[in-house]
Amino acid sequence: MFNLNIVSYTNQLKSSTILSLCRQVTCQSSYYRTCRFLSSEKKAETPTSKPPNETNNIIASELALIKRCKTPPEEKETPKLQTVRVYRWNPEKPNIKPYMQQFSVDLNKCGTMVLDVLTLIKAQHDPTLSYRRSCREGICGSCSMNINGVNTLACITKVKESPKPIVIYPLPHAYVIRDLVTDMEEFLKQYQSIEPFLKRPGEENFVGIRQVLQSQRDRDKINGLYECILCGCCTFACPPYWWLGDKYLGPATLLQAYRWIIDSRDMAHKERLSKLRDFYSVYRCHTIFNCTKTCPKGLNPGKAIAEIKRLLAGLAKKEQPDMETPLPNPCNGEEIYQCREE
Ligand code: SF4
Ligand code: SF4
Repeated sequence: MFNLNIVSYTNQLKSSTILSLCRQVTCQSSYYRTCRFLSSEKKAETPTSKPPNETNNIIASELALIKRCKTPPEEKETPKLQTVRVYRWNPEKPNIKPYMQQFSVDLNKCGTMVLDVLTLIKAQHDPTLSYRRSCREGICGSCSMNINGVNTLACITKVKESPKPIVIYPLPHAYVIRDLVTDMEEFLKQYQSIEPFLKRPGEENFVGIRQVLQSQRDRDKINGLYECILCGCCTFACPPYWWLGDKYLGPATLLQAYRWIIDSRDMAHKERLSKLRDFYSVYRCHTIFNCTKTCPKGLNPGKAIAEIKRLLAGLAKKEQPDMETPLPNPCNGEEIYQCREE
């Protein structure tokens, strides 16, 4: 009401008059902002006539009303305290054994995910706390850790206020570098060993020059596989991997291996399968499905491993691709490209 009235009345007032009137009163900040806006608008104009008495009276009565208004006091939120227990170990202090450190965190002061709680702990309680994080939206797979007994991503795990503490450990059966940071080197080496890229033997000269065709049906075959973000939650939840992690490839690497084997554009599936045909690489999987249960992206590595076993046993065969990609034919006058120099 005041805002509307003052807009019409102030058309006839000087800017300095408006601002000084507004300063005289204790009013809500929005009114004050309106006044400032109107006075600044007014600065550009040259007053042409004196305000009539009637207008002055109305403004005076409005200002009297504002005088009475008071900014309501800000409501203080009651703190939502949550106990968080975090695994700590510092290699620079080898005499201190790993221990669990307890924090009391006000959930009003942070976001809704466990990663936000860790960020608050690092910012306000203990800056020495170490953990990996990057995208904070379940894409990069950096913040994988064991939260309340489940391997998952801290950035997509919601915090529920509870009388029980939130217990956070690094990924189980992984070497710890510091606090919640685990050594993923072996895990990534195993991933590297499956050669996670498209292989088309004999077509090296055309890499990056011709697009490789794929039908929609063939493309659908890699759904549920390509989404893997290599967080390692499944691999470090797999009991056979805990005991034979140096020989058994584990669910994440095998899911990726199956992704490349089944891709219609990849022509090296026989070579890929023969590399996996040994006692340890695949067959240590006992189909317990811990991996599938824990995957934060909802993928099914256990099923992918079962499919690899079927291919290895000859119970299934990779289908021929729906679409072939023709190579350039010099007999038709098509140019043959040389390998691109890096
Ligand atoms: S399959 Fe799931 S749990 Fe395993 S690495 Fe991929 S995204 Fe992570
Ligand atoms: S299904 Fe196989 S890969 Fe998955 S947790 Fe069980 S043993 Fe490990």
